[in-house]
Amino acid sequence: MISPYTIPFVGLKLGQHLFDFTLDKTFFESLPYSLVDDGKLVVKLNLEKKETMLVASFEVKGVVSMPCARCNEEMSQKIKGDLTVYYVLGDEESEDENLIVIPRESYEIDVQQSMYEMIMLALPARSAHKKNECNEEMVRLIEQYTSKPNSTDDNESIDPRWAALKNLN
Ligand SMILES: [Zn+2]
Repeated sequence: MISPYTIPFVGLKLGQHLFDFTLDKTFFESLPYSLVDDGKLVVKLNLEKKETMLVASFEVKGVVSMPCARCNEEMSQKIKGDLTVYYVLGDEESEDENLIVIPRESYEIDVQQSMYEMIMLALPARSAHKKNECNEEMVRLIEQYTSKPNSTDDNESIDPRWAALKNLN
C-alpha cells in the first residue's frame, strides 16, 4: 500500500509547493510506537524544492486524544505547533534529526515521521482535565495505589470511601 504521506518530488518545479493533510486515527494506528492513538489534526506543509534539497515547513493544529495525567481517562488536548525539516540528497547519514539525508536516486519523501515528531513536540509536558472534569473515582483509586506504604491498613478499613471503592472492583 502506498503511504498517503508520501510526496513524489521529482515532478515538482523548483520553488514552493503547498500540501494539506488531515490526520486522524489511521495516522496514529499506522505508527505502532505512537504515544497518541487518536486525534483530528490539520497539517499544512510548505515544501520548497531547491536544486539539492527540500525544505519542508510543517504547521499543525487540532486535537489529540491522550490519557489524563490525573485520572488516566482519555481526554482531548488541543495542540498547535510547527517544524522545519531539511531533506538533502546525499550518501552520508545525518546526526541531526531535522536534517534527513535521502539517497540520490530518491524520487519521493515520506513525511509521516516528521509530522509525528512535530505532534510530539507540540504536546504539553502534562495534560489533564480541568479539575471538575476528571473521573474522581479513578483519581481516588490512583491515589490509593500510589499512596505511601506507611499508610496503615486500619485507616483504610474504617474509611467508608475505601469501602466504596472496593465495591467497584
Ligand atoms: Zn482527568
